[in-house]
Amino acid sequence: MPVDPTPCEHFDKEQIKSASKMECQECVKTGDPWVHLRVCQTCGGVHCCNSSVNKHATKHYHDTGHPVVISAEPGEHWAWCYEDDKFMPY
Ligand SMILES: [Zn+2]
Ligand SMILES: [Zn+2]
Ligand SMILES: [Zn+2]
Repeated sequence: MPVDPTPCEHFDKEQIKSASKMECQECVKTGDPWVHLRVCQTCGGVHCCNSSVNKHATKHYHDTGHPVVISAEPGEHWAWCYEDDKFMPY
C-alpha cells in the first residue's frame, strides 16, 4: 500500500515534541524492560511500543485519547496516529 504523505489533522510536524528522557516513564516504575520508545505529541509523555511487554504507548492512547505518537528512536522520523490508524513519515 502506498504511504499517503499528508499528515492527519492531529499531527503538526512544526511542533514536534521529542523525548525528554530515553526511557518509558511507566516501565521505569516497575523495572520492566522495553523495546522501542514513542513520544506522545499531546503531553510529551514517553512510552514503550507494541513490541514491548507493557505496550504503554497504546495504553496511554486508550487512557487519555492523545492521538499521535512519534518514534523516539534515533534516525527514525515518523509519527503514528491511533485515531486515524495512520503512519506519517516526516
Ligand atoms: Zn490523526
Ligand atoms: Zn512501558
Ligand atoms: Zn499524552
